Amino acid sequence: MNRLYIVLLFGVALLAGCSVAGDPIPTLVPPTSAPGSIEVPREVISLSISLYLLVDDKEEPDPEISTHRTEEDLREILEGMNDIWSQADIRLELQIIESVEVPKDILQGMLARNLGPFFREIGDGIALPQTSAINGFYIRSIGGSNGINPFRSPTFFVIDEPTVFDRRVSSHELGHILGLHHVLNDPGRLLFSGTNGMTLTEDEATVARYFAQGIIQGTR
Ligand SMILES: [Zn+2]
Repeated sequence: MNRLYIVLLFGVALLAGCSVAGDPIPTLVPPTSAPGSIEVPREVISLSISLYLLVDDKEEPDPEISTHRTEEDLREILEGMNDIWSQADIRLELQIIESVEVPKDILQGMLARNLGPFFREIGDGIALPQTSAINGFYIRSIGGSNGINPFRSPTFFVIDEPTVFDRRVSSHELGHILGLHHVLNDPGRLLFSGTNGMTLTEDEATVARYFAQGIIQGTR
């Protein structure tokens, strides 16, 4: 009896040893596509966008207060924005890129972050050829920030020489327009302030898509 018992015990120990040492741990990593959870690709949401170069005079812009950027710069920024926002399957469709004249005193005020007069004069002393769902304004400087999304408007302003990548600043401000707030714990994220982080989480993508739909449907 003892002999049989020992043999059985040895067999059990051997089996146990085998399963630990020899096999990969089988159940910790879930299969990449569980049956019944096949992912359907998300529909791409398109938002129209207009981009504007803010100058005091189209013919002879004063380099002290007018943007130094060109239309080509803005096209490149938009390409980068579409790269970043493809994480949420949101696509920006360019409507227009144009220089816009802003009266000198108003433009000067804007460099000190006084944006009220600009918005009051749109359609009056400031002629915008058109507005889109999203409107990006490129300005010489704006009171020390890289960019700003003022008054919960569908507009953002980005300066000529930000401390981080151009496409990142514009994409970050778009994030605010699309309902996203700053994150504080991960510099790799698009909504972390003042870094080159460009990552959007799935939750952020979901919120941004919800806001984008609202903009398209005119509910925001
Ligand atoms: Zn921000």
